[in-house]
Amino acid sequence: MAIRELKVCLLGDTGVGKSSIVCRFVQDHFDHNISPTIGASFMTKTVPCGNELHKFLIWDTAGQERFHSLAPMYYRGSAAAVIVYDITKQDSFVTLKKWVKELKEHGPDNIVMAIAGNKCDLADIREVTFKEAKEYADSIGAIAVETSAKNSINIEEVFQGISRKIPPLD
Ligand code: GDP
Repeated sequence: MAIRELKVCLLGDTGVGKSSIVCRFVQDHFDHNISPTIGASFMTKTVPCGNELHKFLIWDTAGQERFHSLAPMYYRGSAAAVIVYDITKQDSFVTLKKWVKELKEHGPDNIVMAIAGNKCDLADIREVTFKEAKEYADSIGAIAVETSAKNSINIEEVFQGISRKIPPLD
């Protein structure tokens, strides 16, 4: 089976759970005291997709403004971007829209975008509805999923959704 390496970057505000999502996906582990990402970290995971194996090369960026100028390094050459917001923080959804704009203007052509509304285990203090996120995602041709890295909800689905949108080589 052919192995395809696919670069994937995670973007979004600090604290929305980017590192936790990667940690859950790659190691099936959740750490309450996960240390803040400094710059970026890098992990890989390989999953089957049809007749291919997709080896995700996952770049987990720091969301801090001071690292913003480094962002193009992460999304350049990316097959997909997972843009994460926190369903309990409206501000993080505003930031997500800024990332989408930046990707549309400066990102690779045909980059697959997945919008992950993380911390869906905290639905009782939700500030962003799934309807709002889904409508926005549909308007930009992105996948929309609500996730919980903590309770392991829909984490695999984010990456499966990306895999399905990557055209097979032949
Ligand atoms: P990052 O800065 O976007 O990489 O966010 P982190 O992965 O460092 O997570 C920030 C904080 O949110 C940490 O305290 C995590 O334990 C917490 N967190 C991450 N994912 C979830 C989740 O799905 N549910 C809840 N309740 N907390 C989460």
